[in-house]
Amino acid sequence: MSIDFTPWQRTAHGANLLDPAGRPRVTIFEEITGLANKYNALNLGQGFPDTEGPDAIRQIALDSIIEGANQYAPGSGIPSLRQSIATHQERFYGLSLDPETQVVVTTGATEAIAAAILAFVEPGDEVVTFEPYYDSYAAMIGLANAKHKVVQLELPDFQPDLAKLRATMTDKTRMIVLNNPHNPTGSVFGEDVLNEIIKLAHQHDCIILSDEVYEHLTFGVSHVPVATLPGGFERTITISSAGKSFSFTGWKVGWASGPENLITAVRTVKQFLTYSSGPAFQPAVAKALELPDEFFQQFAGSLGQTCALLADSLEQSGIPVFRPRGTYFLVADARQLGYDDATDLARMLPERLGVAAIPMSVFVHPENRQSYSSLLRFAFCKKESVIIEAAQRLRGLPELAR
Ligand code: PMP
Ligand code: GLN
Repeated sequence: MSIDFTPWQRTAHGANLLDPAGRPRVTIFEEITGLANKYNALNLGQGFPDTEGPDAIRQIALDSIIEGANQYAPGSGIPSLRQSIATHQERFYGLSLDPETQVVVTTGATEAIAAAILAFVEPGDEVVTFEPYYDSYAAMIGLANAKHKVVQLELPDFQPDLAKLRATMTDKTRMIVLNNPHNPTGSVFGEDVLNEIIKLAHQHDCIILSDEVYEHLTFGVSHVPVATLPGGFERTITISSAGKSFSFTGWKVGWASGPENLITAVRTVKQFLTYSSGPAFQPAVAKALELPDEFFQQFAGSLGQTCALLADSLEQSGIPVFRPRGTYFLVADARQLGYDDATDLARMLPERLGVAAIPMSVFVHPENRQSYSSLLRFAFCKKESVIIEAAQRLRGLPELAR
C-alpha cells in the first residue's frame, strides 16, 4: 500500500507551504541566499550580519563547550540567562519580571512564536497581523488551522489605519501578532497604534504576541514595548532573540516574557517542540545582555549609517526608498523601472548585478499579491565596504528597466 499524502497536501496548502506549481516551498530567504551563493553576489537578501558579534561573548560559548556545557539545558533555560533577560527588561524598559515564572528561553524567536500560537490559537480562531508580515507568522497560523486576517500598512511610512484595525478585530480574534520594529518595512509603530492594540485586545479578549527581535535596532527613535503601556503587560507575550541584537543569528537563542499564566503555556508547549536549546550559547547570551549601553548605541548607530549610505545611493539612481526607522531592512520601489512585480527582478539581480534582495510580495497573503508587489527589501546589516560596493553595483539598476 502506498502512503496517503492527502493530509500533508491539505496541511501544506492551508499553511501556504506549497509554491504555485504545488511543490513544497523553500523559504524565500533560502532561495535568494542560494542564488546569491550561486552567482557570488553580495547578499542583501536574508537578514544576517557579515560581522561577528563581540569576541568576549563568543569566547564564553567556546569556553562553555570545553568546560562541558554539552548536555541538555533546563527546558526553560539556564537560570543565569533567565535572570539576565529579566534584568534587561528592567534596565531598558522598567519592566519587573520574575525570572522563574515570567521568562522562558526558546530556540530562537521562531520557536517562541510557534509555541505561543500553538498554545493559544484553536482551529477556526482568527489571528490578526499587519501586512506585509514576517513569513513564519502565516505558516504557524496556517499550521494551527486558524484564520489569518491582515491589516495592511499604508505607504509611505507603513503605519496602520486604526479604523481598519478596529474593523478587522472581532470577538473571534484570539491573537494579534505585532512586530515592532517591523520586518520587512523598517517601520516603528507609534504609541497611538500600540494603545489602540491594547484597547482592542481588552475589548475582544485576545492576546498580544509582540515580536520585538529588533528592539535595539532603531534609528533616532526609542523602542517602546507594548507591555510597558497601561493595560499592555497582562495580555502580552513579548518575544526577542540574541540573533539581531548581538549579531548571532545562527545561535538561535530567543525568549518569551510576560505574565506567568501566558508564559507557563508557552513553556509547556515549547517542551515538546525542542525541549531545550543550546547550553553553551546560553551563558554567552546572558553576558551579552549585560553589555553596557554604549554597545547597543554604537551598533544601532553604525547600522543607521549603512542604511543611509544605501538609501542615498539608491535614490541617486532614481529608485524611491522608504527610509526605515529601525531593523536591518529598507524598502525600495522598482515600479519606475517597469516592474509591477519585483519578484522577477529579485530573481535576476544576483546574476545580473551581483546583489541579492527579497521581493516584498512574499510577505503578503497570496490573494493580496498585487499589494506592495513592486517593492524590494534590502538588508543593510553589512560592512560599510560591502554596502558601498553593493550601492555601486545597484547603480546598474536603470539598465534593467523594461
Ligand atoms: N521575527 C522577526 C521579525 C524576524 O525578522 C526574525 C528573523 N530574525 C525572527 C522573528 C526569527 O528570529 P530567530 O532567528 O531568533 O528565530
Ligand atoms: N529574519 C531573517 C530575514 O527576515 C531571515 C530568517 C530566515 O532565514 N528564516 O531576513
